[in-house]
Amino acid sequence: MTSLRAHHLIDGEFIDAGEELTKHNPSDVRDVVGTVPVADAHLVSAAVAAAFDVRRAWADRGPVARGALVARLAQAIHADRDSLAALISREHGKPERDSRAEVDRTVEILTFAAGMGRRYEGRTLPADTPRTLALSSRHPLGVVALITPWNFPLAIPAWKLAPALVAGCTTVIKPSPLAPFTAQALARLALAVGIPPGVVNVAHGDARTGETLVRDPRVAAVSFTGSVRTGREVAGAAAAHLARAQLELGGKNAVIVARDADLERAAAAVALGAFGQSGQRCSATSRVLAHADVAERLVEMLCERAKALRVGPPTDPASELGPLIDATSLDRCLGAVQRASDGGAEIVVGGARTGPGHGHFMAPTVVRGLEDGAPLTVTEVFGPVVTVQEFEHFDRAMDLNNGVDYGMSATLFTRDLTTMGTFLARAEAGMLHVNRPGVGAFPHMPHLGTKASQLGPAECSTEALDFFTELRTATIDVS
Ligand code: NAD
Repeated sequence: MTSLRAHHLIDGEFIDAGEELTKHNPSDVRDVVGTVPVADAHLVSAAVAAAFDVRRAWADRGPVARGALVARLAQAIHADRDSLAALISREHGKPERDSRAEVDRTVEILTFAAGMGRRYEGRTLPADTPRTLALSSRHPLGVVALITPWNFPLAIPAWKLAPALVAGCTTVIKPSPLAPFTAQALARLALAVGIPPGVVNVAHGDARTGETLVRDPRVAAVSFTGSVRTGREVAGAAAAHLARAQLELGGKNAVIVARDADLERAAAAVALGAFGQSGQRCSATSRVLAHADVAERLVEMLCERAKALRVGPPTDPASELGPLIDATSLDRCLGAVQRASDGGAEIVVGGARTGPGHGHFMAPTVVRGLEDGAPLTVTEVFGPVVTVQEFEHFDRAMDLNNGVDYGMSATLFTRDLTTMGTFLARAEAGMLHVNRPGVGAFPHMPHLGTKASQLGPAECSTEALDFFTELRTATIDVS
């Protein structure tokens, strides 16, 4: 296949400059997807300057006109569905049906965000003095940095970009060097639908590029998705010049299966949440907390599903699971499972490499017999690995659910209203599900976590505007 070349996008110009990184196809490393330039301090500064120069003109367009442009971007993405899906699959490795689903979801999120242009609301407030208007209104922050991971190469850059644009901010996107080409395609479409040069800029690169971008004093806010470790660094660097930071971080999400649960539905939901996208999502199910009376049967059902899943490259239409993103990720996941096994845990299924030899494929893995607090039960693995722990009393299930640093999603299978009520009141997680899979909410719902999973307003909802705007008040004497 043709090898691609990523370019920075600065003030409407595609620029090829900087040290080069090579990006391999994770499902077949013989396929060099292309080269990615690393923006140095000079290029990062140029990208920020481009965004800074047009920030007033973009703000002056007003939210309705900006929303209309985001609607056109959604339509352009829809029109390019097949080529975008193929690009996502090539750089990420996920099956094409998952990539098409990602494109479709992106279109829905952008369509919703576009409508926020007509709902760019402030408030009217009571006044203490007669014939006085008191009100609040929203205003864009200015230049915002959007720093993204590789696991949703289109959806995450787009769901940050759309509300930022509707809000009236100008942007510098710093995509992951493991998924640069789809983000660049998004930026190219933004330019093509008439979003003016300088409003959407792309500075490719790695941690060095991201660090330089966050430290630029002209950057008013940073919306970041990635690991907790990087998130801490980003928040610290942003705070040094009082820029806002929105952090969307990792997860260690549990599915609790009560004694009265519909086990077929629970097993299907766990398989989807744990193994779908090869476990590479922040809301992935990585723990099952099963009532002791049903744990054995549930594990059998889960293992049947794990063994039946077809792991393979996206070019094979029968593939249901793709590879891990790179060799480092594969080694990390295999190592985490091996260490659990060395510590006495039982690998019930999986735990090894699989699939075509030239890709980073890992078999869907179920591990049980772990001590409370064992690393595999509390640390994010970001692969197709799920642990099973048992409980007798629901209090223990809640303690296990809440006994991790993370709080992205939590799920319960039960038919009992009281159990459900306890779960909804006590589960420490941002996205709760009952009798549904722990992944996949609706495009207009807030995407958020608690504890170490999130800092700042939610994404993908009306709340998304809160991060990219600031409120101002006005009092007006009309006497
Ligand atoms: P990562 O933290 O390694 O990198 C994320 C981005 O930050 C990349 O673009 C990277 O180049 C950049 N970066 C790295 N160091 C930086 C620094 N010091 N300053 C500024 N930028 C820097 O994460 P990843 O491996 O790309 O993604 C996987 C992680 O993302 C997982 O922990 C996963 O749970 C999380 N994630 C969270 C969500 C969510 O919505 N909460 C969604 C997807 C992924």
